[in-house]
Amino acid sequence: MKKIGITTTVPIEVLIAAGFQPVDLNNVFITDPNPERLLSIAEKDGFPLNCCSWIKGIYGVCLSYGIKSVLCVTTGDCSNTIMLMEVLKLKGLEVIPFAYPDKPDSHLMQQSLLKLAETLGTTLEAASRIREELEPARNLVSKLDELTWREDRVSGWENHRWLVSSSDFIKDYHKYCQELEHLIADCLKCKSYPPQQLRLAYIGVPSVYGEDLYRYLEGNGARVVFNEIQRQFSMPEPGNSLAEQYSNYTYPYSIYDRIRDIKVQLKRRRIDGVIHYVQAFCHRGIGDIVFRHALNLPILTLEGNDDFFLTQHLKTRVEAFLDILKRSRQGSKHRPKALV
Ligand code: SF4
Repeated sequence: MKKIGITTTVPIEVLIAAGFQPVDLNNVFITDPNPERLLSIAEKDGFPLNCCSWIKGIYGVCLSYGIKSVLCVTTGDCSNTIMLMEVLKLKGLEVIPFAYPDKPDSHLMQQSLLKLAETLGTTLEAASRIREELEPARNLVSKLDELTWREDRVSGWENHRWLVSSSDFIKDYHKYCQELEHLIADCLKCKSYPPQQLRLAYIGVPSVYGEDLYRYLEGNGARVVFNEIQRQFSMPEPGNSLAEQYSNYTYPYSIYDRIRDIKVQLKRRRIDGVIHYVQAFCHRGIGDIVFRHALNLPILTLEGNDDFFLTQHLKTRVEAFLDILKRSRQGSKHRPKALV
């Protein structure tokens, strides 16, 4: 299969039906043993220092890993992708644009999917058959998510790792299923996490800290039991068709659609506090204002740039936040609403 890079979660069913192997460039960037090297490729080629690291990382991956074709999302993700697309064209890559509709409407989504299928030389019937093939993988990751919050048997990091990887199913959905089945079997044998542990939600784009943040939280008596956008990547509400599936996916649309989903999950998962991660120089950071207005729980906003680990300064802020949550749990009726 010919590899096709993707800049965010897209209808991979259409890509696979067209004979492509989708590769989520974000996941390649963040799991590279030396992500700083990928950033410097972009900076040497002229990307500004104040450009988001994910964009520079994606560019570095394309050049460094010999990616020849990229599907770039032009509506519903990031305005920087549009200019990234132009630079990739300049470098000789084949660039295919894909636009999510501007609102979650399955008729509009159907048209976008049809256009993509025609561009790639496939049909939506073939893509629907791939949707059925992917169903076991989507069911398994949903089971892992349930084991995380309902039975407290899965770490926040494993939850993140498997949900975030569902954007391309580690490039091989059969392998993804096999490995995840093993992990779930192991988790079922483990003791569950203690009930006194704080329960956290992580909202916002995936962070550059990777495992470091999740492990640090767990080392300090707290566990992420809701990874918001990562969960969305797994298509938790598949509906009855591809068009419904990608209309129910909240990430490309208004922040208020995301908030509706977040509020349901905060209650269901008995969340004590929220970590909102924002990437430096990202327009989504402004959404912090809306989240603080809409969510009635303590919120810690963390901004990351190109440190791929938690600095001491961040650790101190996280610890202070967890202290407040612990004290709040121990009896105060007046929970602090927000932390800056
Ligand atoms: S973090 Fe923000 S600026 Fe960076 S790629 Fe994602 S949406 Fe774009």
